[in-house]
Amino acid sequence: MARQLDNTHEGSCHCGAVRLTLPSTPEVATACNCSLCRRIGGPWVYFEFGTVDIQGHPEATAEYIQGDKTLRTIRCRTCGCVTHWEPLKPTPGCKHGVHLGNFDPKLIAAVRVRRFDGADTWKFIDD
Ligand SMILES: [Zn+2]
Repeated sequence: MARQLDNTHEGSCHCGAVRLTLPSTPEVATACNCSLCRRIGGPWVYFEFGTVDIQGHPEATAEYIQGDKTLRTIRCRTCGCVTHWEPLKPTPGCKHGVHLGNFDPKLIAAVRVRRFDGADTWKFIDD
């Protein structure tokens, strides 16, 4: 879980079955209050889909597809920790979200978290 010299960051779910490597240091994370995010937490950091190395997925994971069927949230089948979400129909350059809680507390503390009103206005509600 140490920070790498090349600015990649390694994290994992609680039991270690799912391991993720961020390609670069995130500067901003999003805390969302929508019906799903307020339950599974976050904050989320976003990367181009395919640039985050994810080990143990899908063999050690389970998915949840919410009502509008645009993305799947992925969790570890063993410890239940949500690791990321991904688009159901990826398009070139599209982004996906990684749950920052799976990473080093020092990284979490260093990333600016913005509050996003996904429940209502679909806008950031901080300054
Ligand atoms: Zn796990």
